[in-house]
Amino acid sequence: MTTLTLADGPATFLLTPRPAGDGVEVCAPLPHGLTPDDAVPLRAHQVRAGDLVIADFPDDFPDASGAPRICDHLLYPYPADPHALSACPCEGCEECEDFDESGFNAPHTTTDRDARWVCLAPSTSDEPCGVYFRNAPLAVIPAATVQTRARRTTP
Ligand SMILES: [Zn+2]
Ligand SMILES: [Zn+2]
Repeated sequence: MTTLTLADGPATFLLTPRPAGDGVEVCAPLPHGLTPDDAVPLRAHQVRAGDLVIADFPDDFPDASGAPRICDHLLYPYPADPHALSACPCEGCEECEDFDESGFNAPHTTTDRDARWVCLAPSTSDEPCGVYFRNAPLAVIPAATVQTRARRTTP
């Protein structure tokens, strides 16, 4: 179990071991033998291309008790491809549709949306985009760590 602290605040974040084995939702194993111990906490807007996003922290309310926020492991960690919400290469995934100006978040303008949210992954055929508040805390494994480990584990 790893406790993470963001550079810009006192809140702590608890990164539990990735659930594995039988369960309804089985987390895909991290690639190259990486573990949550390799993760660092970052705000969504600090995530760079190639950083492996492994968990988010859904409870968004400041907790006066100072209790750590518990992570929610992504079932399928993905390498980030950060881009502005309005410049999403997906062609209208379910996630992005919610942010469409005709959707429930209307009447935000494109500028408003790009100022408040960031998309970290384009939609693939079966997974929607990963859209987060720009300051949402995430657990990511830095691209450099992923690359170093990949070199070590691939012959
Ligand atoms: Zn999308
Ligand atoms: Zn996107």
